Amino acid sequence: MLGTSNDYLNRLKEREKDIDIYVGGEKVEDVLNNPVIRPSINVITKTYELSLKNEYKGILTVMQDNEEINRLVYVEKSINDLIMRAESQRILNSHIGNCNYRCTGHDGINAVYASTYDIDSKLNTEYHKRFLRWLKDVQSKDLVVETAMTDVKGNRSKGPLEQKNDFAYVHVVERKKDGIIVRGAKMHITGAAIADEILVIPTKNMKQNERDYAVSFAIKPETKNVHFISSWHPMDIMKKVSKDLGTDIDYPLPFGHRNTYLIIFDDVFVPNDRVFMDGEYEFTGKLIEYFVSHHRAGGGPCKAGFADVILGSAALMADANGVLNASYIQDRLLDIMRHGESAYAAGLAAMVKGYRHPSGEYIPDFRLANITKLDSIEHLKEAIIASADIGGGITVNAPSSKDLNIEGLSNKIAEALKGNENYTAEERLRIARLLQLWVAGPHLVGLIQGGGPPAAELLALKNDMKNRLNDLIENAKIMAGIKKE
Ligand SMILES: Cc1cc2nc3c(=O)[nH]c(=O)nc-3n(C[C@H](O)[C@H](O)[C@H](O)COP(=O)(O)OP(=O)(O)OC[C@H]3O[C@@H](n4cnc5c(N)ncnc54)[C@H](O)[C@@H]3O)c2cc1C
Repeated sequence: MLGTSNDYLNRLKEREKDIDIYVGGEKVEDVLNNPVIRPSINVITKTYELSLKNEYKGILTVMQDNEEINRLVYVEKSINDLIMRAESQRILNSHIGNCNYRCTGHDGINAVYASTYDIDSKLNTEYHKRFLRWLKDVQSKDLVVETAMTDVKGNRSKGPLEQKNDFAYVHVVERKKDGIIVRGAKMHITGAAIADEILVIPTKNMKQNERDYAVSFAIKPETKNVHFISSWHPMDIMKKVSKDLGTDIDYPLPFGHRNTYLIIFDDVFVPNDRVFMDGEYEFTGKLIEYFVSHHRAGGGPCKAGFADVILGSAALMADANGVLNASYIQDRLLDIMRHGESAYAAGLAAMVKGYRHPSGEYIPDFRLANITKLDSIEHLKEAIIASADIGGGITVNAPSSKDLNIEGLSNKIAEALKGNENYTAEERLRIARLLQLWVAGPHLVGLIQGGGPPAAELLALKNDMKNRLNDLIENAKIMAGIKKE
């Protein structure tokens, strides 16, 4: 069934008193109205609103067993599904101008679906059945799922067992008859505290002696002993105090910039029916491969959606500056478009070249997904640079909108801040803040690190290349006339 924003808000309202969240060192009592958290709630409500629009039927939604469900909780079952997944990423992000907060959930669902199938097929376990029961509930209520993969990792040169800090990697500390107790910390988890469900998966391929770290499970944010510490970017200070200072124009973004969480699992009980891997270390590598294949391939159209927003914002600033039709500006706008479409094309290619897993799920091509991730960094980086070029210095040097109220000076300041007469000073300031999100916000780091740092993609590609190199050398020998076919 398709959910609605009201259903989601009601669920969040019902459990907000039980979620342990901290923002800027303060415990949050009113989650729905917290200024730092609220924009991310707006993102999620927007995903529901868009999925109900007729024009996005079959793209943001999909028919399963004669019922229409949200693609964000769907297991992709064909190449066409994967293509629609790419389309949906772009549609969501170009409307939201931020991460859509539910994409990791989709990718985690698809990864754990295939991985539990693998484990059960080989070891005769019951993980897939359990997962399907959990998934049925998620799909029937259109729940918000976030995937928590990234462990805090402590000293990166050491493995989980060598860490001095027991919280460096999430792991099982006790096994009971009815469930497991887990300890550890995950970081950078987008929207985790306001999700309905958090799907936890390992952060890396685990070895035989690291089996306690080979753990996957689902948990509700309000579960006892789970604590959420919100990210705190300089833009959050603006978001938090802008109302009090009367400068809300200085943070005009309804969907915010990005809100991620450090999650502390302080000896948390997870009942057996929510455990989808416990000790099967030999399946961790594939689970991660499935996740990043979906996530890195989806990252191309995700960045194309961002590029659409950057293109519109830069063009708006150019118009407010009175230079929209200048030939250099038009060329730079075209650069933004070109880079956005290139990221999109790479992601689409990974989807089109996807393959069928024995479970029936379709998974994007691993090689092309890694290429998509690396290329998207290059392309969106260039789009951001072009927008900084087009926008001018005001994107980082704008005064506060409150300065427009300084007694005796307000008119002169407003005149000084005006560009094209068709825009007021306030409008030009708003546009500058919108562009600031891209040129000086958190998205550049998100672009590079999200889905794993470039070293992870390069390592995967290097292994892939090594596997092909002998054949390619033999082929070259034929072409050089060294060897006969
Ligand atoms: C905006 C944003 C949103 C995110 N959302 C999510 C989310 O929803 N869910 C989720 O699970 N994760 C999320 N992530 C996390 C993301 O996947 C990680 O940031 C990424 O995997 C890198 O991990 P790290 O931040 O710990 O960096 P590090 O591991 O500290 O990496 C920093 C650098 O050190 C290098 N390095 C690390 N270890 C080693 C080593 N042993 N040897 C040599 N070099 C090393 C890396 O290659 C990299 O260049 C998000 C990240 C960002 C920025």
